[in-house]
Amino acid sequence: MTELVYEVKNLTKVFEAGFFRTSKIVALNDVTFNVDKGDVLSIVGESGSGKSTLAKILLKLEKPTSGKIFYKGVDLNEVDNKRYWREVQAVFQDPYASFNPVHRIDRTLKAPLKNYFNHLSERDIYSRIKEVLEFVGLKPEETLGKYPHQFSGGQLQRIMIARALLVDPEVLIADEPVSMIDASLRIEILNLLHDINVKRGITILFITHDLSLASYISNKILVLYRGEIMEFGDSEEVVENPLHPYTQLLMSSIPQVDRRFDRKLEIELEKIEEVNLVGCVFQPRCPYARSICINTKPGLINIKPNHLVRCHLYGESQG
Ligand code: SF4
Repeated sequence: MTELVYEVKNLTKVFEAGFFRTSKIVALNDVTFNVDKGDVLSIVGESGSGKSTLAKILLKLEKPTSGKIFYKGVDLNEVDNKRYWREVQAVFQDPYASFNPVHRIDRTLKAPLKNYFNHLSERDIYSRIKEVLEFVGLKPEETLGKYPHQFSGGQLQRIMIARALLVDPEVLIADEPVSMIDASLRIEILNLLHDINVKRGITILFITHDLSLASYISNKILVLYRGEIMEFGDSEEVVENPLHPYTQLLMSSIPQVDRRFDRKLEIELEKIEEVNLVGCVFQPRCPYARSICINTKPGLINIKPNHLVRCHLYGESQG
């Protein structure tokens, strides 16, 4: 029996911009999906897709304009912040910005334990820190006592992950965690996230612009474009059988993968971006656009039990 960690229902986030707050920017529009315990769900999209806004809302750092999120069956608004921020930990893109440069690593690692487990003795704190550092592939004797500038980006990201693990989280929200790391080290961090999921049973939400990373690490993929879900399903299904033209476009940008989709779509990358708020948001870039796509917003439809797509190419959908 699967256990739900998140139920996200009709989530919408609109930012007001401009001097008189007259312009509206729709960051997320009617986003609905579930996350099961033990999932590694990748949320994939380019910049401006709304993926980081979604991460911030899930981290309770931003409030949605409308819609609901249930965390383990309880309305997220009702969940105690302190408890939530222990159970749901974040790892961000820039490991350098995540540390105070004048604090030794020890101080950074002790802080969350002192905050959440203030009954622990100094000895217990250090033994927990050492165990977690070893789990993330770092030698405690070569890590403790040093300052952030003495580490590489990859090592700092491991320390960030260790800090998140110290407080026994149930969910890890990783927002582009490898995008600022040397390409040669990315797979190591992805493998570490995989171990965290398998060995510690932690549910992971992996936010990325890179579909190849998503397919490497996750069991489910959700593709966002301009704040709307374009495609959602089991990773294997989405990668092997991408249905939405946007997912196919993302597939075509992965080197050395199946190039079935590249010819017509790569040309579309050159197109100037516009957004169609009435019809399909992808319509200005879509080589398959038809008149219905300009005037009618496609709904998200089930193609298979674990594969949904938002596109008029796949039958009638409800706006
Ligand atoms: Fe392209 Fe139309 Fe499908 Fe949108 S609904 S992705 S414009 S075919």
